[in-house]
Amino acid sequence: PSAQIIDGKRIASERANVLRKRVTKFVAVNGAPPALAVVLVGSDPASAIYVRRKGEQCQAVGIESIQHRLPHDTTEASLLYLIAQLNRDAGVHGMLVQLPLPAHIGADKVLAAIDPDKDVDGFHVTNAGQLALGKPRLAPCTPLGCMLLLRELGTELRGKHAVVIGRSTIVGRPMAQLLLIADCTVTIAHRHTTDLAALCRAADIVVSAVGIPALVRGDWIRPGAIVIDVGINRVPDPRSGTGATRIVGDVAFEEAVGHAGAITPVPGGVGPMTISCLLENTLQAAELIEGRLAGTLG
Ligand code: ADP
Repeated sequence: PSAQIIDGKRIASERANVLRKRVTKFVAVNGAPPALAVVLVGSDPASAIYVRRKGEQCQAVGIESIQHRLPHDTTEASLLYLIAQLNRDAGVHGMLVQLPLPAHIGADKVLAAIDPDKDVDGFHVTNAGQLALGKPRLAPCTPLGCMLLLRELGTELRGKHAVVIGRSTIVGRPMAQLLLIADCTVTIAHRHTTDLAALCRAADIVVSAVGIPALVRGDWIRPGAIVIDVGINRVPDPRSGTGATRIVGDVAFEEAVGHAGAITPVPGGVGPMTISCLLENTLQAAELIEGRLAGTLG
């Protein structure tokens, strides 16, 4: 048996078509497009690629992209000053600070400075708290993207046992919260979990967000289970021999595809959905902000 491959790229591009129409409507009502400000500090090459892609994807659906690229030696104070400006700027509806930040800048302090209503990454304590209360407002994009993929499969989530591997604040924890809201029974595993294999074998849904290639083996996957692989790991490409690399997930895909009912590929699974959810969060923030402005004026 071979699993259904969940085509995140196709699903994201279908969602982009819908989003483009919603953005057009937003422009017709408000006279200007939703705008997303992205702040990048330093020149980490992976971060630079992510930021560029976010800009391109915004433009592809008609969202205005404002990018602030700051040098590595930017002080925490001047970054906080920029965030305060963006908070006040009525033309900016969403903002995010690309992580990781240089070590001399306190990421917690920076994230706390972002207006929760503009916090399209969903990392502000207020938004994390809302999610933990089961009343999400702006939720983190990667877990949201995973939920959309699960919904797309059309299988009932209620009562399913979901095992989330990884407890980061960016993926694992919010993922577990969203699965709980969807009425799953949720287990969170992390580096101190003792028998991860046994845990996975009991799962209807496995979501891995760890950053270790081939951590999850094929025989850990119950026949027919759903596997969502959030990992993005760069490894040497054995087929090339010229020092070239390729991107793989946390799951040994070739093994797992023979056990799972459905599985996301890496790349082309969760990745495209993350950006899709960022754009949708931006439109949601913009509709909220503009709706409130219209309410106070009219
Ligand atoms: P991400 O941004 O993908 O969530 P992080 O590096 O922030 O990644 O978090 C990695 C997570 O993976 C941590 O919660 C850590 O406990 C978990 N983890 C690391 N190694 C293992 C392991 N061998 N088994 C299970 N979980 C692990």
